[in-house]
Amino acid sequence: MTDVLDRATETEMRNSELALRNQQESARQTESPLIIEGNRCCLDCEDVVPKKRLKAYPDAVRCVYCQEDFELKEKQINGCC
Ligand SMILES: [Zn+2]
Repeated sequence: MTDVLDRATETEMRNSELALRNQQESARQTESPLIIEGNRCCLDCEDVVPKKRLKAYPDAVRCVYCQEDFELKEKQINGCC
């Protein structure tokens, strides 16, 4: 009997964990891309984001350089240690 209960709790925990992860994922994707003359442009420097990059990262809203910069700054803000 306890076995069934254990399993139910486990499933519930896994579900809420998944929901939380989905929430975090969607929170990260709130930035809408900058479109200039039909081209997707970098949010920071307004250069056109290369098609090659968009192919690899369809959700990219920055060029490689600004994205690296952005992630670096984000890491510093969230600073783990
Ligand atoms: Zn840029």
